[in-house]
Amino acid sequence: MRLALAWEVNVQVTRDMNAYAMPGGKIMVYSGLVERLKLSDDELASVLGHEIAHALREHSRERISRAYAQQLALAGVAAATGVSSGVVDLANMVATVTFQLPSVGRQESEADLIGLELMARSGYDPNASVSVWKKMMSTEGSRGPAEFLSTHPSPDTRIQQLEANIPKVMPFYRGAKR
Ligand SMILES: [Zn+2]
Repeated sequence: MRLALAWEVNVQVTRDMNAYAMPGGKIMVYSGLVERLKLSDDELASVLGHEIAHALREHSRERISRAYAQQLALAGVAAATGVSSGVVDLANMVATVTFQLPSVGRQESEADLIGLELMARSGYDPNASVSVWKKMMSTEGSRGPAEFLSTHPSPDTRIQQLEANIPKVMPFYRGAKR
């Protein structure tokens, strides 16, 4: 099936720091992320590259259908066994740990790598992908990172993965005309 994406980047004016992709190519960037981290053009391109990659890979769709399947399975279990809602909550927690986390981790890692290539091919310095995360971590303690990290986990491993892959995309960056 061919993907028909209607790209649209929206900015929400807020002090919160976040960015996310919705199904179909709509991307939301919070102004707090850009302003409070004083993002350079290259750094903003890395955020957009990451979110564009989520949209290209249809991660939100995958995440929604997975969560839906999970709910259906749990409802089935509850109906069959007549267990109380408390037990279902526990089962839900287990399901979250076993299904959702590895999937989110894989999606984030995939979006980082695709985003890195996209930004490099568009003529933005891929090193900026690392500096965004370093800025994010240096604001630790404020409300922003906790929120952003709730949808974008484990900055340390991501920085490592990005650093390991920057040399591979540098030729694209050098060859790109802006
Ligand atoms: Zn992400």
